Formats: sequence, structure tokens, C-alpha cells
Amino acid sequence: MTSDVLIMGGGATGQLAAAYLQQSFPALRIAVVEGPHKNRPIVGESFVELTIDFLLELGLGPYLVENHYPKYGLTYYYKLDIENPADRTYVVDEAPTVPPQLSFQVNRFTLDEEVRRRNCLNGVQMIEGTVVGADLAHDDGELHAVTVEDPGRQKHATRARWLIDATGRNRVLAKLLNLQEKVKEQKNVFWFRLANFDAEILSHINAIKKQNRAFVPYFATHHFFGRGNWIWCIPMRSPENTPFISIGITYRQDQYPYGNVRTMEQFLDCVGREHQVIVDLVRSGTVVDTNVYASYMWECRQRYSPDRWYIIGDAGDTVDPLYSVGMALGSLQIRQVAAMIQRELDGHDTREFTRDLDTAFTAFQRSVTRDTTRLYTCTGDPYQCHLRVHLVVAKVFHLAVPLIMKGYLCDPLGAKLINRFAKLNTLEEDSRIFHDLIREVAKNPKNREVKDFIKVQSTDSLNFEFFEYQREEEIPDSLVRLVFGLARLRLDLLRKLGWRGFTNTQQLGALFKDLGRGIFLKAFFSHRNLRQSRMVRMLIPIREPVADSRQMAQGTPQPVKTSLS
Ligand SMILES: Cc1cc2nc3c(=O)[nH]c(=O)nc-3n(C[C@H](O)[C@H](O)[C@H](O)COP(=O)(O)OP(=O)(O)OC[C@H]3O[C@@H](n4cnc5c(N)ncnc54)[C@H](O)[C@@H]3O)c2cc1C
Repeated sequence: MTSDVLIMGGGATGQLAAAYLQQSFPALRIAVVEGPHKNRPIVGESFVELTIDFLLELGLGPYLVENHYPKYGLTYYYKLDIENPADRTYVVDEAPTVPPQLSFQVNRFTLDEEVRRRNCLNGVQMIEGTVVGADLAHDDGELHAVTVEDPGRQKHATRARWLIDATGRNRVLAKLLNLQEKVKEQKNVFWFRLANFDAEILSHINAIKKQNRAFVPYFATHHFFGRGNWIWCIPMRSPENTPFISIGITYRQDQYPYGNVRTMEQFLDCVGREHQVIVDLVRSGTVVDTNVYASYMWECRQRYSPDRWYIIGDAGDTVDPLYSVGMALGSLQIRQVAAMIQRELDGHDTREFTRDLDTAFTAFQRSVTRDTTRLYTCTGDPYQCHLRVHLVVAKVFHLAVPLIMKGYLCDPLGAKLINRFAKLNTLEEDSRIFHDLIREVAKNPKNREVKDFIKVQSTDSLNFEFFEYQREEEIPDSLVRLVFGLARLRLDLLRKLGWRGFTNTQQLGALFKDLGRGIFLKAFFSHRNLRQSRMVRMLIPIREPVADSRQMAQGTPQPVKTSLS
């Protein structure tokens, strides 16, 4: 059997890739090898705005509204006295008001089934079986050859021009090509779903928070921080449309003080030492299923190849789920793969483009994942933790989301810009210096009283100003707000250190760097489209016309209706 695009793995990423590619390239024949997915644990139920943006493009908007709960952002619970299990005082930080973009908490069993059903209707071919071998093509004229074993253990050869690996934890291509990178700081996760519970219990705490009458607080993804761990509570509908909640603990093996969590008993025992409210919630309901992943972090050295194979979703890298960006990164990758296929169909060379997209993706993926991994060293310290989460929130909403939404990670100039100015090293070094400052300030108990907590998620840090109109020309101003906001925060923290702060050359250097970046961007790029700027074009010469921003806004250029077969 031969197809144009063969997707290995029919999990969420594989089925969504099939849906998007089928919609973008209706003339291409798309096939999915569905894989051994019986009784597979499903996780990834809290969807962020970027994921929803992608699902809306696939026409799933009305379906989501009718079948899944709305999500009013992430709500963080920072416990002031983590040593005292009986204490229920939390600084609670939730979205300041209804977010300007839709998001949902989905029942993945229901959603995954719906995407698959639509794919079948739209002509995507489903192949029941497991990939047991792959022979990759190296020349333009060759096709990739994949061996699939069907449920009756018969082997079949299938061929395709483009090969996409979405085999999740099995990581077929990464293993075959030796692309896996070890991650030292490993994490474990234990999670379950609960039915017939008393949702009211979540509010049985002493919450220090701003007034909120914009939404019902229950309809958010709830995150409770503890020592070396955090816990999620994601309300959703069951497949039968009754209330359901997904609860899970993820902990860093070298930071968690209470041993392993592999059973409900261990969960209740360990979590009861920090958050009695969660134990009460669990005891009020019926546990439907339990799941464990041990050592669930891995990284991949290369995801895309000009030889027309691509690794997407968990088959490449895992992300820490703290900011719920797993599916968002998967959907970004699907758009990138579509852009690479389109480029080939347009007759361009894809080598440099493929490398640039991979590098740009790595910077965003690694920077958020590694930052979160380091956060576990202070998740039990509410003051440090809340400031570090604030930094990530501000960067994600001012830098990553606008650039991704406007297609910068899918076009040649956009990717080069990111690779020049938002390198992984730069992003990590900037964060490290800020973390040093937060750690220093946190040493003095006088600096960390409740009045010293800032609003982690405000209309400023969530960049509501940009998301009102989402104009590409506003991206430089969004970056200016980010760096000036960071400079203001740094100045406030330095003040808390007194004279010591203002003699710290590293922190002063970082402060002036942020101010310099802000002034430069404001002076030369305010209200300008970066990709059409003459200065940017001089700095980063590329031979092709600049992408039309309206066309790129959806991430992928208009498809060429061509089948290669
Ligand atoms: C604890 C945790 C919580 C998370 N929470 C969130 C969240 O709230 N929001 C969010 O956006 N993301 C979240 N994520 C990330 C998200 O769950 C993943 O990004 C997503 O589920 C990955 O889907 P996938 O299709 O890539 O992999 P999988 O879901 O693992 O699917 C892989 C598929 O490939 C098939 N397969 C495997 N081997 C073969 C083979 N040899 N041949 C053919 N088929 C094969 C399998 O049967 C399966 O169907 C979370 C991740 C974790 C670990």
C-alpha cells in the first residue's frame, strides 16, 4: 500500500495531524497506523488557548462548546505553611477575568474519538496494526518503507513520501535513529479520574485572593504546589455527560520527600501531609481509574529531516504538564510539518528551512520544560514559586504565544528571527539570573509576607492588550511591555535587598540589558511588522518574498492542491 503521508500512531497528535493535513492538502492521501492503543492511559485534558486556536481551525469549535467544560485559565494555590497539614491557608492566583481567548478542559476519550470519527469521514485511511520496522528514504525519488504488523500478526509493507512519527512513549523513530537524549532530573506522575464527588470541597480553604465575579472559579485547572511536587485537578464531563474530575500528582524524584506514589493509598497518605483539602475531595467521590508513569521525561536531538520524516508530540519530547502546553506544542509541530510539506510542493529546497524550524521549536520547548523542572526545587516555597511562575507566564503570553499565533515558527524569516534573538541559551541565562535574585530576596523573612506577593496572572502579565486585536504590528510593543515589566519587577526586588542589590553587577547588567532592549524595540519597531521591516530584512537576508501575515496567521500558507502520486 502507498500513501502520500503516513502517520505512525493514532493518539491525539497523530489523529490531529491527519485532520490538519487532510484539510490543508485535500489531494494528498493520508494514512494513520493506529497502533496498540487498547487500555492506553490517556492524559492531557487541560487545553490552552494555542491548542484551542488549532482546534477551531479544524472546525471543532461548536463541538467543544457543546461537549466540554469551559476553562477559565489556570488557578494556582500557594500554601503559606506547607509544613502544617491542618492549615488550609492558600494564596490563590486565578485569571483576573474571563480570558480574551477560549479554552476548554476536555474529556480526551470523547474528543479523541470525535477527531478519529471525522478523519474517517474525511477520507483518512486508518490502518489497524503496529509499526515494527522502518526503512527511511534518503533520495528524493525514494519512498519511506514501513512494516506494519496487523492484529493477526501478519506483516505488511506500506510506503509513503512523507513519514510522521506520532508513536508517543514508544518513540519509534527516535529509537531507530538513536536520537534520544537522557534527562537527569526525572519525574513520576500518578493520576486518576473521580466521579460522584463533591465539587464544593475545593473551596473549603482559607483563600487569600482577589474578588472574582467574572466566572465560576471551579471551571479552571487547579494547581496545588507542594515540596518537590504539584497536583492538578481538572474538572470535565464524563463520556456520559456527568461531572468528572482528573486529579494527578507529578513530582521530581530527587526533590519529593515522601517516597513513591503508585497507589491510591500512597496518594492519600503523601498528599494528606500537605493538602488535606485534596484528600477530602477524593474521599467524597468514586475513583474510576488510576495510572502511573515513572520517569516520564525525555528529549530528542532532532525532530525534522529534509529527508521528509518528522517526529511530533510525545514521540519526540515530553513537556512538564504544569502550564498545560503539551498539546499546544504538538499542534504547533503539526503546523510546522504542514509548512515543510507545502514548501516542498512549492518546489523550494527544504534543508535550511527544516533545520531552522527544528531549532526554533527546540528553544521554546526546552526553555519551558527545563524551567519547570528547575521550579521543583522551590515548589514548596510559596514566595519563590509564585514569582518564578509569574516570569514564565509573562514570557509565554508576551513572546511565545504572539509569535506562534502569527506563524513565526512556520515561516523562513520568522524562524530565523527567533533563532537569532530568542536562542535557548539566551532564554535560559536570562531566567537563571532572575532566579538568583528571587532566591536572594526570599532569604529574608520580612520580604515574603503575604503583602509581598504579586498577582501572578494579571491583565498585564497575560498580555490582554495584545490579545484584544492580535495584530502582527503589535508584537514589538508586546515585547517592549515584557522587558519593561521584567525591569520593573527586578528593580522592586533589588530595592528589597537594599544597598546589596544596587552593587550587584550581574543584576544591574541584566536590568540595563532589559531597559536597552525595550528602548531599542520601542524606537525602531513600535507598531511595525517585524517581518516586513527593512532593518530586519537587512539583518537576516533571505531570498524569498516575505510571508503575507494574514496568510501566515493560521500558521500555514495556502495549500497547493497537488498529489505527488
Ligand atoms: C502527566 C501528564 C499530564 C499532561 N497534561 C497535559 C495537559 O493538561 N494539557 C496538555 O495539552 N498536555 C498535557 N500533557 C501532554 C499530553 O498528554 C501529550 O502531549 C499528548 O497526550 C501526547 O499525545 P501523543 O499522541 O503524542 O502520544 P500518545 O497519546 O502516547 O499516543 C501515541 C499513539 O501511538 C500509538 N503507537 C505506539 N507505538 C506504535 C507503533 N509501534 N505503531 C503504531 N502505533 C503506535 C499508541 O498506541 C498511541 O495510540 C500531559 C502529559 C503528561 C505526561
